[in-house]
Amino acid sequence: MTDLIVGSVTAPAGSRGRGVIPVTNLPGGRALEIPIIVINGAQSGPCIWVDAVIHGDEPEGTLACHMVDAELDPVHMRGSVVLVPVLNVPAYEAAQRGNPLDTFSYDLNRIYPGKADGYLTERLAHAHSVQLREIATYEISIHSGGAHSYLSETMSATENAKAIELAQAMGKDWSLILKSFLPKGSPPAVMFEAGKHGITVELGGRPATSPSEFFRCGRVLADGILNVMRHYGVIDGQPTYADRWLTGVQHALLAPVSGLFLAETSLEFQKPMQKGDLIARIVDVYGDLLAELHAPTDGMIFGLRALPNVQTGDWCCFYAEIQGELPKASQA
Ligand SMILES: [Zn+2]
Repeated sequence: MTDLIVGSVTAPAGSRGRGVIPVTNLPGGRALEIPIIVINGAQSGPCIWVDAVIHGDEPEGTLACHMVDAELDPVHMRGSVVLVPVLNVPAYEAAQRGNPLDTFSYDLNRIYPGKADGYLTERLAHAHSVQLREIATYEISIHSGGAHSYLSETMSATENAKAIELAQAMGKDWSLILKSFLPKGSPPAVMFEAGKHGITVELGGRPATSPSEFFRCGRVLADGILNVMRHYGVIDGQPTYADRWLTGVQHALLAPVSGLFLAETSLEFQKPMQKGDLIARIVDVYGDLLAELHAPTDGMIFGLRALPNVQTGDWCCFYAEIQGELPKASQA
């Protein structure tokens, strides 16, 4: 067994370490760097790499990384785990989706693999990509609805069988697999181009930040990550699986007009709907109806906006058009 070297961390077999992937320095002299937790198993096996806070207003993944870190013992692991609790540090500090220090490459999840001589955030993406591509066997990118929305347990993956297997390995709570709408520009795209696999998982957002709800989101994400480790034999234990998986594509329904967004109170996440079913009404400042939002296809809602006051073009509803179903038999 050999040392695992990631950024500034050297973790001998059966040990853990903390450190950073360096990027550059900021004008005040402070370092821009990516904090990492490296847990290297006593025996060899795949490397599961987890990225949280690609978007700075999505801290659910940070909590999940802390939970996973607390529950792993490298002495009993076959393989390794790299946890990135906060990937986009300036965005996290500002609690904003993108890096406020960079107006030209604001959204980190659109600019992978980045550029060594590019804009500030492109350099961060590049420093991350180099390590990710070399070290990770599987990557999990954690997202949530952030400041603007709540998203229920949803995954996106390429249609490659190995990427689908990774999504299925998230376990019993995760049954919705959408076709990745970011075939380029994201960390999973870097993995795919390297002949490896990554998925995006979504859970949480502003409407779920009460103490119990935020903890629940962290727990469900952490349980999924630990289940992936069981599935690939990195840790002991019997993995769980969803009863079946629904596959499809996402439609982001944008507000057709500005006003007060009033979703139907009977709506439930990931409950089947029919094309044309009423999702929400938008009313003006006097309460008069301006527009209605209807289900664009048969499918289900997997996310809704956080604040009811909307501007034309705002994200309102995340809708999954269901196109297929995968049976449990392939994994059980
Ligand atoms: Zn995100």
